[in-house]
Amino acid sequence: MKIIERPSPNFNERQGGGPVDILVMHYTGMPDAESAMKLLTTVEGKVSSHYTVDEDGTIYRHVPEDKRAWQAGVSSWYEATDINSRSIGIEIVNPGHEWGYRPFPPAQIAAVIELSKGILKRWPITPARVVAHSDIAPNRKIDPGELFPWDELARHGIGRWPSAHLHIAAAPTLGVGTEGEAVKRLQSDLARYGYGVEATGLYDERTLIVVSAFQRHFRRSNFDGIADAETQAILADLLNQLDAVA
Ligand SMILES: [Zn+2]
Repeated sequence: MKIIERPSPNFNERQGGGPVDILVMHYTGMPDAESAMKLLTTVEGKVSSHYTVDEDGTIYRHVPEDKRAWQAGVSSWYEATDINSRSIGIEIVNPGHEWGYRPFPPAQIAAVIELSKGILKRWPITPARVVAHSDIAPNRKIDPGELFPWDELARHGIGRWPSAHLHIAAAPTLGVGTEGEAVKRLQSDLARYGYGVEATGLYDERTLIVVSAFQRHFRRSNFDGIADAETQAILADLLNQLDAVA
C-alpha cells in the first residue's frame, strides 16, 4: 500500500482524553480529487481528514492519526459529541450527489479496505463504530451515500452488516405522524446502535431523517425514512450482533 504525504495545516491535539474509537467514511463531494485535496490542505479550507483515497486507489495522508483532523463537524455517536477528537476520517473521492454521484471503482474500495484494516489494528474501533458521515450528522450529511459498498467492507471485517439469513417478522410500518410504544422502541433501538435520536414515542421529522441515514447505510435499495418491517428487522439483527459480542 503506497501512501503519498500531502500534509494539511488543519488539525490540533485530540481533546477530552477519550479513546480513538470511531472510523468515519466520507465522500469528497467535489468535482475532482484535486479541488477536494486543495480544500483539505489549505488554511482557508478550515477542514481536513486523515486520508483521501482517490478513485485509482492512491492514498494521500493529510493528518497523522494521533492528531485531531477537522472532518466530522457537529455530530454525535453514542455518548460522543466531539467526534473529531475520537475518530479517524477517510475522504473517498467521489463527486457526490451535487456533482454527479457515481459508483466507487473497485481499486478505490480495495484501497479503502486495506487502509481501514490497518487503522482497526492500531486503534480500539469496534464494528459498530465504523460509520458514515451521514450516521453521525444525519440532518446535515448524506455521504458517502447509498452506493458505498458497506457489505463488501464488512466481509473484510470492517463495520457491521445484517445477517445473510435475515428474519423479517410482520410489523406495522412506522412513518411521520405515527405515535406510540412501537415508535418509542424504534427510537431507543436506533439510539442504542449509536444514532442521535430521542425516544419520544412520536415519529417526527428528526426520526425520519435518522431512519433514512440508517437505511442509506444498511438497506441501500430504499432510504425513504419510513420504518417498514424490513428496516425494523435489520435494526433488530444489528442489535443482536451487538449483544452477541457484549
Ligand atoms: Zn463528510
